[in-house]
Formats: sequence, C-alpha cells, structure tokens
Amino acid sequence: MAESVELPSRLAILPFRNKVLLPGAIIRIRCTSPSSVKLVEQELWQKEEKGLIGILPVRDAEDTPSVSPVISQGVGADSTERSSKTQAGPTDSPKLNGKNPQEVIHWHARGVAARALHLSRGVEKPSGRVTYTVVLEGLCRFSVQELGTRGTYYIARITPLEMTKAEMEHVEQDPDFITLSRRFKATAMELISILEQKQKAGGRTKVLLETVPIHKLADIFVASFEISFEEQLCMLDSVDLKVRLSKATELVDRHLQSIRVAEKITQKVEGQLSKSQKEFLLRQQMRAIKEELGDNDDDEDDLAALESKMQSAGMPSNIWKHAQRELRRLKKMQPQQPGYNSSRVYLELLADLPWQKATEEHEFDLKAAKERLDTDHYGLVKVKQRIIEYLAVRKLKPDARGPILCFVGPPGVGKTSLVSSIAAALGRKFIRISLGGVKDEADIRGHRRTYIGSMPGRLIDGLKRVAVCNPVMLLDEIDKTGSDVRGDPASALLEVLDPEQNKTFNDHYLNVPFDLSKVMFVATANRLQPIPPPLLDRMEVIELPGYTPEEKLRIAMQHLIPRVLDQHGLSSEFLQIPEAMVTLIIQRYTREAGVRSLERNLAALARAAAVKVAEQEQVVPLNQDMHRLASPLVENRLAGGGEVEMEVIPMSENNHEIAGAFHIASPLVVDEPMLEKVLGPPRFDDTEAAERVATPGVSVGLVWTNFGGEVQFVEATAMVGKGELHLTGQLGDVIKESAQIALTWVRARAADLKLAITEEINLLQGRDIHIHFPAGAVPKDGPSAGITLVTALVSLFSQKSVRADTAMTGEMTLRGLVLPVGGIKDKILAAHRHGVKRVILPERNLKDLVEVPSAVLANLEVILVKRMEEVLEQAFDGGCPWRQHSRL
Ligand code: ADP
Repeated sequence: MAESVELPSRLAILPFRNKVLLPGAIIRIRCTSPSSVKLVEQELWQKEEKGLIGILPVRDAEDTPSVSPVISQGVGADSTERSSKTQAGPTDSPKLNGKNPQEVIHWHARGVAARALHLSRGVEKPSGRVTYTVVLEGLCRFSVQELGTRGTYYIARITPLEMTKAEMEHVEQDPDFITLSRRFKATAMELISILEQKQKAGGRTKVLLETVPIHKLADIFVASFEISFEEQLCMLDSVDLKVRLSKATELVDRHLQSIRVAEKITQKVEGQLSKSQKEFLLRQQMRAIKEELGDNDDDEDDLAALESKMQSAGMPSNIWKHAQRELRRLKKMQPQQPGYNSSRVYLELLADLPWQKATEEHEFDLKAAKERLDTDHYGLVKVKQRIIEYLAVRKLKPDARGPILCFVGPPGVGKTSLVSSIAAALGRKFIRISLGGVKDEADIRGHRRTYIGSMPGRLIDGLKRVAVCNPVMLLDEIDKTGSDVRGDPASALLEVLDPEQNKTFNDHYLNVPFDLSKVMFVATANRLQPIPPPLLDRMEVIELPGYTPEEKLRIAMQHLIPRVLDQHGLSSEFLQIPEAMVTLIIQRYTREAGVRSLERNLAALARAAAVKVAEQEQVVPLNQDMHRLASPLVENRLAGGGEVEMEVIPMSENNHEIAGAFHIASPLVVDEPMLEKVLGPPRFDDTEAAERVATPGVSVGLVWTNFGGEVQFVEATAMVGKGELHLTGQLGDVIKESAQIALTWVRARAADLKLAITEEINLLQGRDIHIHFPAGAVPKDGPSAGITLVTALVSLFSQKSVRADTAMTGEMTLRGLVLPVGGIKDKILAAHRHGVKRVILPERNLKDLVEVPSAVLANLEVILVKRMEEVLEQAFDGGCPWRQHSRL
C-alpha cells in the first residue's frame, strides 16, 4: 500500500482525458501515441528505479467551457495522437494559445503522482510501432505550478498537497474529523458486508478498513466506483481531509443504496421467475404422472365446469372478481393440499347461490289467493282476512317494505301450512328455516372460513337449497332462539328482517354481501314473550288460538282425513271414518290446541286399514290380474307359443292405481272397537276431573304453556310435622311465592272461614303442608295459580271437595284481591277441551272474552270475580258456608 512519498519538484505529465486517477487507485493503461510512448520510455522504462510521473486530468474545451482553470502556458505538442482520446489514457494537448478554440484543452490544476507497478513493452505488427502497457498506482495529490514540455511530452513544476505528519496528527484530534471518519467507516463497513454477502467471499476488504489510514481509504473506496468525471474531479480537489471524508461518505452511501435497490429488483424478478418456472415444472410433472396413471385431468375438467357454473351464476361484478381470485388460488393448488377442498366447497356455494335467479312473480289474483287459503284451511276467518290484506298491499306496491308477518299460536294450529299456502298463492318457492334451539349466532351468520368445518349460516344454506332469490322463507319458532356466550342469534335476525340492512346481509362464511331484500320472510312462534322486543317491533303479529272440538271435527273431515287417506294409498272406498268416531278421537285421544295429534291418530287408523286392504289384496289381485292380463297381448303371445311376459302396472304418485287394482267388497268403517284396538284404551275422559277432585285438597286451575292452555290440578295434603310448607312439581320462584301467599291468607282467615274455632288456633299446629303440582316433569311458573292454591288449601283444611266442573285462574294479593292474568283465550279453550263447565276468572279479564269463539262460550259458564271470597263461594258445592260469619 502506498506509503508517503517524497515528490520531486518536477514531474513528467501524462494527461488523462476526462478521467481522474485518485491516490490509492491502480490502473492499467496502454500507451500508443508517440508522445506518451516517449514519456514512458524516458521516465519509466529507462530508469533503473521505478520512476514517478504525474497524471493530470484534462477536459475537452467543447465539453464544458469553464470548469477548471485553463493553464495557458505555451505548451507545444504535436497533435498526432488524437486517436487515443477514447481510451482512458494519455492524450495529447494542442497549443493552448486560444487561436483555435476547438483545440483548447483545459488542464486541471491538480493531479496525482503515480508510480508504475508494472511495465511491458510491445511492438505492433506490421507497422513496427512500439507501445507500452503500464500498471500505475496513484500515490498523492499535487498542484501544478507551471506546465512545460520536455521533448514531445509535458513536464510540470509541482507542489505536493498531502499533509505533513504533524498536520495529520493535529487533524486527527479534531472532533469533527473523528465523527466524520466514524461515519465513513460505518458506511464503508456496510458496503463491504453487502458485497461480501453477494460474493460470499472472505473478509479481506475488512482488513483494509482496519489497516489503511482513513484519508487514503476514502480515495480508495471512491476510486473503485463508477462515478462521473465531475465527481472524480471534486474528489481530487478535496484536499481538506474533512471535506474529502464527507464527500466520500456521500458517494459510498449512494453506492450502497443503489446496490440495495438493484438487489431488491433482482430478488423480485428472480423470485417471480423461479416461482412460475417451478410451477410450470411441477405442472408438467403432474400431467406426466396423471397420464401414467391414466387419471386424466378430472380435476381440471371439474374446475372448468365449476368456472362455467360460476360464470352463469350472475354474481355482481365485485363478487365475481372475488370469486375469480379464489378460483385462481384453487387452480394453483393440488387436490391433496390442505385447503383445496374448503376452497372448492366455498366456490361451489358461490356458484350455487341464486344471485339473480328468481321465480317469475306473476300478477297474482287476490281472489285466487283467497280461494287457495280457503281450500287449504278450514276456519281461521280473521287470519285469512289479514293475510289477504297483506297480499293486497303487496300487489299494489310490490316493493313495499311492510312489516314481517309473524304467526303466533300453539303447535299444530296451521301456522306452517298457512305460510306454504301464501307461497303457493304468490307462485313463489317455499323454504322453512327452523330456528328452534338456535343459540349460536353462527347458525344464522355462518362460521368464518378460518374455522375447521366452517359452514354458511342457515339462511344462506336455505337459499342455496331453494335456488331462487325470492322465496317465501319461513323462520320457524323464532321465539325459541336463545342467546349465550356464542352470541345472540336474535341480533343477527334483526339484521335479516330489517329491509334497510338485509340488502347487504353478511354471512361470515360467505364473506361477501348477499341481497336478501327479495326474500319474503314470515315468522312463526308459540309465544310472544320470549321474542326480544326489537325483533317483535319489526313484525306484525297474527295470533292463531287453538281450535274448538267442533272446528277440529270440521278440519278432520274436510282436510285431514282426505289427506291421510291419500298419503296411505287409500280412499274412502276402503276406509271411512265417521264423524262420531272423529269426535271420540278428539275427546278421548287428544287434548291439544291444534290438530297435530288428531292427524297422527287418523294416520294410525289409516295404517291399520292399509294392512287390512293389503291382506285382502293377496287374494283379490291374483284372480283379477289374471283376468286382466287375459288381454289380446297375452293371448297373442300364448297363441304364438312364446313365453308369457310380465306386465308391469305403472305406479302413480299417490298409488291410486294400486288401490284401483283391488276390489274390496265394502269399505272398512271405523267403529269404537276398532278405535280401541288401534289407538288403545281412551287416554282422556271427562270423568278425570271428577275423580281427581273427589278427595278434599285438590282444585282445578287453568295454566298457559307452550302448547297453549292446559288444565292443571293442584294437590294439597297435610301430615304430622312442624308447620312447614313443602312444594313440589318443578316450580319457579313466582309460583312458590304464590303458595306462600295462599297459605298466609288462609291462616289469617282461618277463624272467619271456620277452619279453626278461634283465631288463636294455629292451622299448622303439629303438621306440615305439602302442595304438589302434578305433571312433575314440566317446569311451571307464574302468578296465575294464586286463587287455585287458596281453594286447594281451604278444601284441605275444611275437608270439603271442590266442584269438579269448575276450573279457575287468577292472581291473588295478600289481602285477597283477585288480579287479572294472561292467556285467557287459550285457557278457556283448554277448559272447554277438558269438559269443564264453569270457569272462574278475574273480573278485569272480561275484555279478553271477546277473543274466545262464541261456540265455546256458549258451552261454558264464566264467573267473574273480584275477591278471593267470591272464588271460594263459587268453587264449593252449595257455596261457601262460612261466608255469613266472615268479617272480610
Ligand atoms: P304449526 O306450524 O302451527 O305447528 P302446522 O301448520 O304444521 O302447524 O299444522 C299441522 C297440520 O294441521 C298440518 O297438516 C295442517 O295442514 C293441519 N291444519 C292445521 N290447521 C288447519 C286448518 N285450519 N285447516 C286445515 N288443516 C289444518
């Protein structure tokens, strides 16, 4: 490495055209012009010691008119070596007297002394011209004092520009210099590491960084980059060390950045290339393997089919783009790859969903709709009227955002079948989404696709099944949704039922909005109370009470029996169920608000009849069919001596043809013994109440359940004990409190009610009371058993039975006032079903009686009461005997 050198006062000058040799740089040049050949020969070749020469940059005058000082001493030289100017090497200088501005050469005032590290001489053939190749090392800067010639080459008087040792030491103390050199070293270090990483070479350059003085390092680094001539000159002129360092840092840093950018670009390009090349290769391999296996491109065919299905699905453009992206991803995957299947199932769903496909909605005829509802359903006059009104509004304003219909009533009253009739009347498809027991919001909205086994929610799944975007969608049992830690399905339903929001319904699985606004939603529920108020707010409630026995009979005769017979391949030719028998079924085998179990019982009869008919069939068809088969066809065949062929009787949907194939002497008529044989002994009878209340301590209440109204017995008994009250029968808090209140009231009135001789006597002296609500497995709660409880207790203490024909409902206050309760209509219907003749109700429930069918009211005596004493008066045979003495 270049150590500090003593420079002579004069140096032979080799001009470098548009090029700078910096100290520390090593360069190889080829000298061909006579003047430079001469210079090399005289100054370097012929000297024993390796000589020094000066390298001085020159700039063509026409390039830049005034950058560096023009040294205009009268320098004379021949100009025969112009040809060498393109080479980064020596060039010749014309006269600098300015006569010919085209030929003026601008000499730079500073240059670098250089030492020849290696020299070789050559002779060009065939001209015999001598040339030299010189390896030069830049040593130190000098400035030109005077430029002259020695023979054909230049010579200059110079002054060295390098600092002395003392000056150096002084500068090294300078804090600015220290900071600058640190910065430079850090940048240089970074550059070296990057370069070494790229070339995976060892750390020789790093050693350089440790051993070479910093000001020389700056030159060496800069000399190794390709930088512009101006910048090279600028570096050469940076005699001041601080200036030199900061300039060098800037240049090294710039170089570093450019390497980084270049690297990034290459990486990217390489990455892309190699990825697609890899994919291509793998695909080729896959194809080859498949061909070998004879397993030709099934998947690709499938994917093509999927793609065309997606194209015809009519997705909105943004969703189509999303689907295409997903499809591209899928195409790149292997079928065995995890995620392939889920991605595929997802795309199938996108393709299957009815984005635009709709049932054409014809101009519907209100009259026809009404007829349809009438033929499908007996009675329900008000309900049908309301539905027709709803449809009329839709007809006038098809896009009307009216409320959602919600049918509320006990099971089996025809809610579902009404909705399917609406769909039929509108000519739309019908789909039922069961919400019973849905507690997880994901059931409505779907699971995100990140979950394993994720699925779309029930709505989207339903739409996929029904395959049109405008079906009538029944949200069944909307009151049975509950909320827990997994979210609140009701809030998702809110979005579904809100016409403003459901245009962009967001299913988590689907992850793109789906327009539900064309779907006609109808909901059903058993009870109103559990439905969250905001949800209820969006719905128009239509209540369906239970049916009276007469209505049930009509429904059975007109609708259920024909349907049941048809379902079992029978007709009235085979089985007849007389009205009297249907009435018996209603009375003895069913106790429900709707007609579901009635339908089941009728179905049981039909099954039994089918067996009978089928047994007869074994005899009948053989003869008959033989007879029938004796058709010309058979005869011809027989005549022709060929084999007899089987004749297949085509089966139609409802098997009428099969039935038609049989002849039965007379239809089977259901009678009482058959009822008992098929349905078993009667399950209910009107004597039940009488038997149960025969013992004192039992009273008949009316309660409200999910299945509509029910008759509920309350049993009380006393036994030896410590005056405690025991309650059983799965009771809630409210009903337990009612029992406490009842007992307190009875104890407080014991003397007035003649239950005890004096007021001092404790009714509970030495005994416990146990109250039980039968049907122990069914949870019960509510305040409406208040008056029933008191009646049971009074009956117990007085040892008098209550009237078997009287049922009651009503809340009681501690002071004996009877307060109104809910569900009156259903409760009265239940009482009627049970054959109850008298019903005791709170007076303030009078208004609810309007809703009760008049046919039922006609068969019942309704007693309205204000106080508990009136209840007791009515509940016991011959009234309440203690009333006269009562001070209440
Ligand atoms: P829900 O949905 O209220 O539980 P469904 O609609 O399933 O009851 O009705 C049960 C059965 O009773 C169905 O076969 C239905 O056709 C029949 N049904 C109920 N009410 C009537 C009615 N008024 N007229 C004719 N059939 C009825």
